Amino acid sequence: MKYTVITGASSGIGYETALAFAARGKNLILVARRLDKLEELKSTIQEMDPNVKVIVRTSDLSVTDQAYTLYSELKEYQIETWINNAGLGEAAFVADQNLDKVQTMLRVNIESLTILSTLYVRDYAEVEGTQLINVSSALGYAIAVGSVSYSASKYYVSAFTEGLAKELELKGAKLKAKVLAPAITETEFVKKSLGAEEFDYKANMPKYHTANEMAGFMVKLYDSNEVVGIVDQNYEFNLRGQIYPVISEL
Ligand code: NAP
Repeated sequence: MKYTVITGASSGIGYETALAFAARGKNLILVARRLDKLEELKSTIQEMDPNVKVIVRTSDLSVTDQAYTLYSELKEYQIETWINNAGLGEAAFVADQNLDKVQTMLRVNIESLTILSTLYVRDYAEVEGTQLINVSSALGYAIAVGSVSYSASKYYVSAFTEGLAKELELKGAKLKAKVLAPAITETEFVKKSLGAEEFDYKANMPKYHTANEMAGFMVKLYDSNEVVGIVDQNYEFNLRGQIYPVISEL
């Protein structure tokens, strides 16, 4: 029995990705802090297809010890695909940013993603058919003034994952590492980044994708042999080879 792990599955891109993978008959391990949302998603999937196995795990990935605990609790499962999607932003100029929120963001977006990626690579580098997909952002390839710390955290995700993809390729490993880089997508993300009660995408954003569309792009990246799936300035989704230059020291 093989599973796909999705962190940040309680809303937005992670939630829709879970539905998209379930539609392909993939068994799922869904991770986030909000148990009620994960349980709701589990029921929806099981109504869709009772044959799909769904396991729910709560974890606060801003507490790095919990990332280690999560991984060790999942050791008993055979994990075909690991998707590090959980993440958050802070929309503020550097001088004005809330440092508590920024520290939390760095722990989720960078530390836990690095821990979970590393542990997964250790166990699955030589397993045929496995994939690690890390969710970065278009802002992991272009700096957003007004969200510089968030943007820099996603530069880390992109550089780390592209570098890992190259390491795996040079070693002839079976595991593939890939980066999904969405542009603005209608989720809870902006609301939480701004600390607002609500956010109306239609009224405020000239262009954006729905989370359902983004999950479709995630599936395209999963099906491809490319390393990066990125949304460009025209809101087109492109599958590409590595974007960052790589210097090999192997
Ligand atoms: P979202 O609706 O806010 O979803 C974020 C997910 O991350 C939720 O499931 C949330 O679950 C989880 N999460 C947040 N903090 C967590 C923590 N401490 N521990 C465990 N899980 C945590 O936003 P989204 O847009 O779908 O975001 C998904 C990914 O896409 C993020 O990495 C984001 O940076 C990236 N992205 C989004 C956009 C966009 O415009 N929406 C654009 C580019 C990239 P709980 O709150 O239940 O824990």
